[in-house]
Amino acid sequence: MSRYTGPVCRLCRRETAGSKTGEKIKLFLKGDRCLSKKCAVERRGTAPGQKTAGKSRTKVSEYGRQLREKQKMRRYYGVHETQFENYFREAARVPGQTGRTFLALLERRLDNVIYRLNLAGSRAQARQLVTHRHFRVNGRIVNVPSFMCKPGDVITIGERSLKSPVFAANLEVAAGRRPPDWLEWNDQEKTGKVLQLPSREQIDAPVDEQLIVEFYSR
Ligand code: SF4
Repeated sequence: MSRYTGPVCRLCRRETAGSKTGEKIKLFLKGDRCLSKKCAVERRGTAPGQKTAGKSRTKVSEYGRQLREKQKMRRYYGVHETQFENYFREAARVPGQTGRTFLALLERRLDNVIYRLNLAGSRAQARQLVTHRHFRVNGRIVNVPSFMCKPGDVITIGERSLKSPVFAANLEVAAGRRPPDWLEWNDQEKTGKVLQLPSREQIDAPVDEQLIVEFYSR
């Protein structure tokens, strides 16, 4: 399945409109705009194509809820359907709670680690920077966004990339923001480190992973 290339704010508005609790669901697909008042979910919480907010009368089935949650998580991490399913199969093979292992696998992707280290405004930008060979893991260039990071891995930025204007703004952001506790950013040396595997409490993804486990276990 091809990657979605339409307006990404529609995806957040779709999830927000479908939220049972009425909470605003932000998928953080547009960098700093997501934190500003310009965020489409903050401005209008209606579903795409709907002018006024209103409760849908359609009763959502259990399957529908599971499917929505799966789509939400897949879009949050920007992963293709097949790849997403492969992560689930891999998580299911590991002893322990499948949902948590699944989330941790997605978090450990290099593009997500770059995003969490605040070296990119969004996961999409992080993916592009990785494919453009700007990062090294343990001294070796890695240009595969799905590269699985593990505890002890050290992420550095190539010397030429460090001087590039692309990184100037991002490095400023990285210096001012704290990454999650399972990661570390050394601003003096401009290096990131994976300290441990992420626990569920350290992952702020707005998803109920149990629904996704149920979706794939049908
Ligand atoms: Fe979603 Fe970001 Fe757009 Fe807000 S600005 S609707 S969080 S993608």
